[in-house]
Amino acid sequence: MIVWNEYNCQVSGGTYKFVECEDCKQKYVYRMMREAAGQGNSLYFLDNAGAERRAKNQAEAILKKTLAAECDAVPCPKCGAYQQDMMAKLCREYRLWMFWTGVFAIFAGVLSGSLGFILFEADSRGWGLGLGVVTLLGFAGGIGLIVWRRKLADAFEPNDTPLEDRLAIAAVRSTKVNNFEKWLKEQEIDADQPIMN
Ligand SMILES: [Zn+2]
Repeated sequence: MIVWNEYNCQVSGGTYKFVECEDCKQKYVYRMMREAAGQGNSLYFLDNAGAERRAKNQAEAILKKTLAAECDAVPCPKCGAYQQDMMAKLCREYRLWMFWTGVFAIFAGVLSGSLGFILFEADSRGWGLGLGVVTLLGFAGGIGLIVWRRKLADAFEPNDTPLEDRLAIAAVRSTKVNNFEKWLKEQEIDADQPIMN
């Protein structure tokens, strides 16, 4: 018998993101936080300390990568513009509930189709055909929702949203900076050290 002990480690931390606005060249900085999880296995409980360490190392490595690769949608505090990577993120996440509702409808269609087939075969033809109709509706509705969301997301222009809304987000999340190095020194921040909490 193979037995093992599984270690899970959850870490959270953040970093400062430095941005030079693509529209007006204003330099600004915002703080971004993320969470990551890691896992380590100890076979036959022989290496519990090692597994715990591996879980932590993996979580920290994933966190570091995520912090480097991702962005938050924080508009420029001067002109309110979202940057390219932020707009891509906002479009990706735009009305995501429609996508997941579509997936759910298709999944429900598969279930009702299977049940309908069983009932039809078992001579409950009326129920079987009824569920068949539900299946078709689930598929059509689900696919329709996914395609429709895609269209809406493609047409969504984050920088066409009200300027005061964008400036309000910027006011809360960002700080104008003339010189990043000077700003870091003034804040007594070591940019190489992650923000842990
Ligand atoms: Zn700007």
